Order: sequence, then C-alpha cells, then structure tokens
Amino acid sequence: MASMMEVAEFTNAIETEDLWRVYKIGNDIEVPALRGLNIQIEPGHFVALKGRSGSGKTTLLNCLSGLDRPTSGVARVLGHDLSQLNDRQLTRWRREQLGFVFQSFGLLPTLSAYENVELMLRIKGVRARERHERAMYCLDLVGLHKWIDHRPYELSGGQQQRVAIARSLANQPLLVLADEPTGELDSETAREVLGLFQSIVYDEKITVLMASHDPLVDDYVDTILQLRDGQVAS
Ligand code: ADP
Ligand code: MG
Repeated sequence: MASMMEVAEFTNAIETEDLWRVYKIGNDIEVPALRGLNIQIEPGHFVALKGRSGSGKTTLLNCLSGLDRPTSGVARVLGHDLSQLNDRQLTRWRREQLGFVFQSFGLLPTLSAYENVELMLRIKGVRARERHERAMYCLDLVGLHKWIDHRPYELSGGQQQRVAIARSLANQPLLVLADEPTGELDSETAREVLGLFQSIVYDEKITVLMASHDPLVDDYVDTILQLRDGQVAS
C-alpha cells in the first residue's frame, strides 16, 4: 500500500490569504478570476460557495485542490501550504486526502456503480478485502446497496450523483470539493443530494465546500460564501 501522506495539524480546513488567479490570454489580455481572496473554513462544516457564473467559483476550487496554481497569495488546505508541494506531492495529497464531485457526475460508463467506487481504492493501493468493505460502506451511505451492479446509464441522474458521492468518499477524505453537484438535477432530486451531503458532513466529520448558484442550497449548508467578481461579497 502507498505510504500515507502526513496528516498535518490545522485550525481551518481551508484558508486563503490575498489569493489571486489571473488568466493570461495571449500576450496582452489578462482575466483576473480571483482578486485577493481571504477566506477561512472550519473543519466539519458544510459550506456553499455561491455567486453567478463567472464569479470565480471553479477557479477557486481548482486552486484549493492544487489542480491550478494561483498567481499570488497563499492557499492553505488541510494544513498544507500548497505552494510548498511539487506536482507529484500534490497528486498524492489529492488522492489521499481529497474527494471530488462534479456537475456531470464523471462516472466511467462501462463500470458498475460498485466498480466506479472500488476503482478509487485500487488507485490508492488498498488491499482487496478492505477495498470491498470500504466500497460497500460508501454505497450503503448513499443508499445504493440495491444498485451496486448497475451501470451509470441504468441509473437516474440522482442515483448517478450518489455513486459519484460514494466514490468521492472512498478514500476517506478529510475534505470534499463539489462543483455545481446539483446543476443537472431537478429540484426534488437536488434536495435529496443536498440532504445527503448534509448528513455525511455530520456523520463522517468531513468538510464539504460546494460551488453552486442554486438558491436551494441555503437550506442545507452551515455557511454561505458569496463570490462576486473574484472577491468575497460582503
Ligand atoms: P464560475 O465557476 O463561478 O462560473 P470561473 O472560475 O469558471 O467562474 O471563471 C471566472 C472567470 O475566469 C470568468 O471570467 C471566466 O471567463 C474566466 N476563466 C475561467 N477559466 C479560464 C481560463 N482557463 N482561461 C481564461 N479565462 C478563464
Ligand atoms: Mg464553475
């Protein structure tokens, strides 16, 4: 099994200091997507990152997961200053301590629900018996034990997103980042998924940061961070 990335000490699950991300298009066009962002998110909270399209939500999630490098400022996530990790260390850290959920589910179409979840554990190098137990635990958690052998196309949108949530939890992450996870769901199904996130945050004691512009989320989260033009709107 791959060696565990050190779990660092931290007060805030996420903190940023004067975080900027300026995209350069060609030689002379600059798009400042994040403009000096300062945020703190305590562990064990369910936090919504709100703001209209283009306000910088996805850019922020990418900087917090180390998929993108900020132009300047500090991003400290689960106690790690991400600028201090090289690309290989970031990849390993992501695999061991983060979970991801996307708008479009991102499931592999030829694999069953069970195999989609179990694959994450294979990638992490977990042994067979433990893989099975953990995959079943996560699929139970999202209420899909009857559907484990079904492929994505045999499942509803809500069920597919539940598989994706089970998959995001497989590696026992400390933090789950979700980008518009209810964007493709009708409002009733969106509420089910939001309720599921809410109970998982409490029961599994993890932190969830969820980008969304859906007004429904207000009923489920502990905290709302409102972005406007790459800054926290006050
Ligand atoms: P949101 O997720 O809130 O819709 P984004 O983070 O996707 O916002 O985008 C923030 C701003 O950055 C927008 O103006 C968008 O057009 C711009 N942007 C996002 N990604 C890129 C990119 N790869 N290159 C250039 N501009 C980008
Ligand atoms: Mg986005």
